[in-house]
Amino acid sequence: MNRLGHTITLDDHRPPLSITDHQASGVLALQWQDGSESRLPHWLLRSLCRCAACEQQWRRTACRQQASFAIRLEDIKPIGDKGLNLEFSDGHGRGIYPWAYLHEIDREHSGSREAPVPAAIAGMAPAALP
Ligand SMILES: [Zn+2]
Repeated sequence: MNRLGHTITLDDHRPPLSITDHQASGVLALQWQDGSESRLPHWLLRSLCRCAACEQQWRRTACRQQASFAIRLEDIKPIGDKGLNLEFSDGHGRGIYPWAYLHEIDREHSGSREAPVPAAIAGMAPAALP
């Protein structure tokens, strides 16, 4: 699953110039020093959490459990200049996301960056979202 077919460059370890959290669309936007931008859906970041508990579940079931599209980032804490600790609206906040991993998520999952709107969410009143 985690095939590293690409090369991680030194640039991948440099912190972004800016981090913008779009709560309405559920997207974390990272502006990198090389001028590129990563737009990472909150649900995707939650699905790809690499904390010990999620890794264990991943190994046990051999597949990633996809998070709900309605999930949102609750808190973003910088880990020095190495990456981010992300806390989600389901109460999960143990995941550490180094810059290189955020680059990797963007590259590996660039085809799925826009979340489809599942019927269950489409039918929900927007006011029900936090
Ligand atoms: Zn986790």
